[in-house]
Amino acid sequence: MVSTVDLVVVGSLNVDLTARVARHPMPGETVRAAELTTCAGGKGANQAVAAARLGARTAMIGRVGTDAHADTLLEALRTDGVDTTHTVHDSDTPTGTALITVANTGENSIVVSAAANARLSPEDIADAHSLIGSARVVSLVLEIPVDTVVAASRAARSAAARVVLNLSPVLDLPEDVLALADPLIVNEHEAREILHRSGTPPTGPSGTGDAVALRGLGARSAVVTLGGDGAAVAEGDHTEHIPGVVVEAVDTTGAGDAFAATVAWRLSQGDALPDAARWATRVSAHSVQHPGAQPSYPMLHALPEPAG
Ligand code: ATP
Repeated sequence: MVSTVDLVVVGSLNVDLTARVARHPMPGETVRAAELTTCAGGKGANQAVAAARLGARTAMIGRVGTDAHADTLLEALRTDGVDTTHTVHDSDTPTGTALITVANTGENSIVVSAAANARLSPEDIADAHSLIGSARVVSLVLEIPVDTVVAASRAARSAAARVVLNLSPVLDLPEDVLALADPLIVNEHEAREILHRSGTPPTGPSGTGDAVALRGLGARSAVVTLGGDGAAVAEGDHTEHIPGVVVEAVDTTGAGDAFAATVAWRLSQGDALPDAARWATRVSAHSVQHPGAQPSYPMLHALPEPAG
């Protein structure tokens, strides 16, 4: 039996195979990689690791295969103290994999095979009923089937856990699920896509206007991340722009996952949403100063104090 946890992350685990190339191959062409790295990734696993490093008691609900990559991913989670009791081995499919090429220009091209992530099912959520029942916050990322996101959101509501929904990539969700998001977290491009899909015209420059518009679609609260400009928060009648922390960014991979994980952790500790978002700008600003996703996430003691 798992004891009370701060955060349960429901989402994807991928192994990231990254090849550095002089330039991307043309169709039908072969190019040589200067370097190949294998890293633990996936938006769900990134969030779980980011939260655990900050001190959150964290558990992960997900699916991996039975190949060697599965062991790499589970080991990465366990090393940071993430409970993987409900990260299921699936013998019928490989582990989720992202094939990434990075050219000298810094431009990425990525092919993702969802594999085991596509088989995370509502039954897996039912099996984790007591874990979800012991959580303060349930954080959901996409890259898993919509039915599973729906089941996890409803299970969280039944357990009176707060739902943090990182709607990335953007998919259509039932209204009652969107209505549980507290907050809905998206970046500015995703915000525009959601508003476009719903036929809501832009209210002006992206930021607080979009956050308010997302609330208008039914989310209890909304956060729009704005890259180096920080984030916009809309909650009840309160809207606030949280400025970004000024740093020299070298690699923004996984910054959004660090942001969402930090919001979820701080909410589990009782912070108000704007304060949680302020924490999240500090953690994600730390992450953009270091290469990679999971390797860039700080331990709590390594996080610089806020300026001023
Ligand atoms: P990614 O896909 O790269 O993980 P994202 O597109 O989901 O990120 P962003 O809005 O780019 O999300 O970044 C998330 C958060 O990371 C921002 O709200 C901000 O706090 C921080 N951040 C991103 N880029 C920078 C930067 N250049 N300087 C400081 N902070 C940054």
